[in-house]
Amino acid sequence: MGFVMSETQQMAAISQAQENPLLKAWQTPFETPPFAEIVPEHFLPAFEQAFADHAAEISAITHDPAAPDFANTITALERSGKLLSRVSAVFYDLVSAHSNPALLEIDKDVSPRMARHWNPIMMNAVLFGRVAMLHEIRATLGLTTEQQRLLERTYTRFHRAGAGLDDAAKTRMAEINERLAQLGTSFSHHLLGDEQDWFMELGEDDRAGLSDSFMAAAHAAAEARGMAGKAIVTLSRSSVEPFLKSSDRRDLREKVFTAFTTRGDNGNDNDNNAVIVEILALREESAKLLGFPTFAAYRLEDSMAKTPEAVRGLLERVWKPARARALADRDALQALISEEGGNFALAPWDWRYYAEKLRQIRANFDDAAIKPYLVLDHMIDAAFDCASRLFGVTFAERRDIPVWHPDVRVWEVRGRDGAHKALFYGDYFARPSKRSGAWMTSLRDQQKLDGKIAPLIINVCNFARGAEGEPSLLSPDDARTLFHEFGHGLHGMLSDVTYPSLSGTSVFTDFVELPSQLYEHWQEQPRVLRQFARHYQTGEPLPDDLLKRFIAARKFNQGFATVEFVSSALIDLEFHTQPADASRDVRAFERAELEKIGMPAEIALRHRPTQFGHIFSGDHYAAGYYSYMWSEVMDADAFGAFEEAGDIFDPATASRLHDDIYSSGGSRDPEEAYVAFRGRDPEPDALLRRRGLLETPEAA
Ligand SMILES: [Zn+2]
Repeated sequence: MGFVMSETQQMAAISQAQENPLLKAWQTPFETPPFAEIVPEHFLPAFEQAFADHAAEISAITHDPAAPDFANTITALERSGKLLSRVSAVFYDLVSAHSNPALLEIDKDVSPRMARHWNPIMMNAVLFGRVAMLHEIRATLGLTTEQQRLLERTYTRFHRAGAGLDDAAKTRMAEINERLAQLGTSFSHHLLGDEQDWFMELGEDDRAGLSDSFMAAAHAAAEARGMAGKAIVTLSRSSVEPFLKSSDRRDLREKVFTAFTTRGDNGNDNDNNAVIVEILALREESAKLLGFPTFAAYRLEDSMAKTPEAVRGLLERVWKPARARALADRDALQALISEEGGNFALAPWDWRYYAEKLRQIRANFDDAAIKPYLVLDHMIDAAFDCASRLFGVTFAERRDIPVWHPDVRVWEVRGRDGAHKALFYGDYFARPSKRSGAWMTSLRDQQKLDGKIAPLIINVCNFARGAEGEPSLLSPDDARTLFHEFGHGLHGMLSDVTYPSLSGTSVFTDFVELPSQLYEHWQEQPRVLRQFARHYQTGEPLPDDLLKRFIAARKFNQGFATVEFVSSALIDLEFHTQPADASRDVRAFERAELEKIGMPAEIALRHRPTQFGHIFSGDHYAAGYYSYMWSEVMDADAFGAFEEAGDIFDPATASRLHDDIYSSGGSRDPEEAYVAFRGRDPEPDALLRRRGLLETPEAA
């Protein structure tokens, strides 16, 4: 399906437009997308119309005969592209959470077309001239703080996209952007392909060590793939990790681990090695066109960290104690193997399994013991309840809102004053049409440029369903993920800004994980667990003794977790700071870098390059994977404000948190916002302390 339409096709498109729900006003409650009426065939004509509308709006701004002012240029830009935002939001929600071959095919067409649409806008010299002129005289314009920030961000966006380049450079830049868009789409489709192609059936003899809840999920996964009655392991992280943790079968652990870590690296049609080489070369070329020595230097200029050196500084500070802890843990795991009479060296597919055993010995705690207390619905209630205590919002389920899949639930969110504030969509269960991972996104962002627009916020997870007739039970990691994504959700729902491009999560990548990671802290508070962690059969609250061990166990295996994360973040940084030529052989580059940092051989990268969607499916986290840790420095430090106040729901602290962090979106400089909340800069030791990495390994 191309985008050049014949006249007959155009006529067909026009008549279809009258029927195309994406192009009509939505008559649903809160004007939400009418998902039941939308079919894949609606998207191409809707995108076509949206591109045309947006181009016309931009042209009107560019050719406005009046001298540029804030209203006719900056505000007008904020008002443009409404249809495009609306169509894109619905489309990308479906592509990620409920795709099918038709949608994936359209995605292949749309992604380069999107780049082709945005390139001439972001590199429009006349338009940039208007923005630059206003930026030049910004001090004289009498702008509010939010308007100043908006002008600054708009100017920076154009400048960094290459609006100031000469024509030859712009042409090349446009080609690069379009190709990068295609490559990013190929990368994620390849990954999805390798994940969808593989499964391992569990025969009766293959189930030793696996819990009932794991088997329930394995049966559900088989059923979803049309193999009812069978049980399978799939390559989604929520299937692989519990399998590696609990399967007694070393040979099967190796098989699953190998399949998981070679996704995108199998020499088949889904191989991502060549895609990576081309992406890195193009990113380097674009950075150089813009006057930066490397892509990382370009990317980090527009972040809190500012430079590759600052990022490396943080990662190395964490790497050393984490590696030391991991090596000490490795020796303890090897000793455990020997004690059990095992005559083999600990391998990467053994780590989670023996770490779980060691945890049961040291902390007398295993995930399976707490799972019956972590009922999905109760954990959702817990996430809502914490938000009510902190920010005064309330949640009421609605059953009249159209959704994209019957599993999706919707809640209406009201503010302290009782007024409608947002809708929250929760899509919690894994299914083959959903990509792996967990994420927050929106169908509509908050703004009040022309009247109050309430946001439509989505959380998508990949939790396993409960067994027949039983509730879904979460692992401790799942429960943490639920709170994490809900923290992002609150950032979207509590947003209170005027301009759409500053709304909610429209902040620096190394700031965006603060609201989400900070929210995780409440999930592990005794007060919250005592109230909401109740046994799914008996309703008994989590016994105190188990609760204490659960909290203590949180620090367990943090050497491993930190090493697998930081090594991935360092590889990301190296890919984007070294000359692209250095990584022409991706596997050799990966090996050399791991050797350089002294990566323990028994631990694998959290994301090997060919499956590192964060940095190759698009450029959002490229040279930016460190962001999670940068944000963690802040979240560990920020939660300290509640601890110091002696109340995890302290009203004064919560009120500052709302005003300075959760509701202010991108309307303020993030450093300034953090200092306003905390009264000082973040203090990095809080992170090491939380991960238990300040204690000596022997004391663990
Ligand atoms: Zn996140």
